[in-house]
Amino acid sequence: MTDFSAIDITEAKKLLSQKQITATELTEFFIKQIEEKKELNCFITNTFDIALKMAKESDEKIQKGSDLGILEGIPIGMKDLFCTDGVKTTAGSKMLENFVPFYESTVSQNLWKNGAIMLGKTNMDEFAMGSANTTSFFGNVLNPIRSDDQKDLVPGGSSGGSAAAVASGQCFAATGSDTGGSIRQPASFCGLVGFKPTYGRCSRFGMVAFASSLDQAGPITKTVSDAALMLQSMCSYDDKDSTSSKKLIPNFSDYKKFDLKGKKIGLPNEYIIEGLNEEIKKKFDQCINIFKDCGAELIDITLPHTNYALPTYYIIAPAEASANLARYDGVRYGLRENSENLDDLYQTTRASGFGDEVKRRLIIGTYVLSAGYYDAYYLKALKVRQLISNDFKNAFEKCDLILTPTTPNVAFPIGEKQNDPLEMYLNDVLTVPASLAGLPAISVSAGNNNNNLPIGMQIIGRPFEEISVLAAGSAIELSKV
Ligand code: GLN
Repeated sequence: MTDFSAIDITEAKKLLSQKQITATELTEFFIKQIEEKKELNCFITNTFDIALKMAKESDEKIQKGSDLGILEGIPIGMKDLFCTDGVKTTAGSKMLENFVPFYESTVSQNLWKNGAIMLGKTNMDEFAMGSANTTSFFGNVLNPIRSDDQKDLVPGGSSGGSAAAVASGQCFAATGSDTGGSIRQPASFCGLVGFKPTYGRCSRFGMVAFASSLDQAGPITKTVSDAALMLQSMCSYDDKDSTSSKKLIPNFSDYKKFDLKGKKIGLPNEYIIEGLNEEIKKKFDQCINIFKDCGAELIDITLPHTNYALPTYYIIAPAEASANLARYDGVRYGLRENSENLDDLYQTTRASGFGDEVKRRLIIGTYVLSAGYYDAYYLKALKVRQLISNDFKNAFEKCDLILTPTTPNVAFPIGEKQNDPLEMYLNDVLTVPASLAGLPAISVSAGNNNNNLPIGMQIIGRPFEEISVLAAGSAIELSKV
């Protein structure tokens, strides 16, 4: 069997259209990979029968040469946060262990309409809360990349199953969702490309909600070119999501024509934080030189409220989560525990259905929204969020793009930071600001550290200017730092 794990979607599309390979061959190859790499625990549910049926349909279309989608015949993983009609959707939680939706999320629907093939539903932190994929009810996901000392490392989170599946060649690409970094951080830990588009580009319809004002879908891929293709398919205006954007969706692959010459790239001094790993800092400096070589102008900028982004996020996200997750009451969705009366039903169901991290967030969320503390915490956080957005607005008057590292550290061993939630939350310190401001941001791999672990660089752009972000990501990718 040919090894398809070495090629990306862009190359596979070429081979499919030249009829050198079939979608069925691709699908069978990835099914074998998924079976052989079970120990990484990337998938919660396999959908091999569906995949083979979809592949057959794609092959028929390719034979006829008509009706072809932009992802025709391309097998992918679907984060288990996207509702899939008739296929279990758990959000990594015991609460939804047996939940089978009877409708399809808009993002997954768009992908199937474009010919993508569903191999299965990927593992994730429970309700997308986490940075290490260690909060899933279905167990930890292992990073396929190992450090030189051979420890088991986290793949990042919350889209850890998606990232580990792509990195280990179990699918060409996978969907992710990013509330505070869950696409970019795992992509960074697994040496991949992760793209969070502008808030509103992808519909949230059918995505299990975490924090609605922040949640945004996006792809995790091997290359920037693949990210553009996945994005093209995932984005759409949707009247089923009131925050979905009506902005024209460009041809994202046009990033290849975007010239960085003369563009201004901002370097926010606040992002070179204390505790930033030396080797990451070194890669950051190398990336500055890459952009200089492209003819871009590098300028120092300031985002003065950066320090407040993490505490602001960890008030707003839990507040919204506590409202969104109120629906899991033992009556309407998923798990229902035996009980004596209604109050008891709520309590026993929620006590047994949610894991520790989710409970922690729900307690924080209800606390900051409670009558006595609403003004002091939640309202204050909303105001600071606006200041953070204004910081970016001001910065983008001076520059076109912003370059930062994606994370302050590389992938760490499973178990580390587990007993210290604050340590864990610090992982998101560089990704959360763009989420609060709803800006498009990519993470691309900038090579490895001395211990052979990938380092990710982040590029943040103006709202709806995904093309320039992809172009800058591609510059780093092409330079092979
Ligand atoms: N790690 C962050 C958190 O735990 C971000 C999660 C996400 O983006 N879904 O909330």
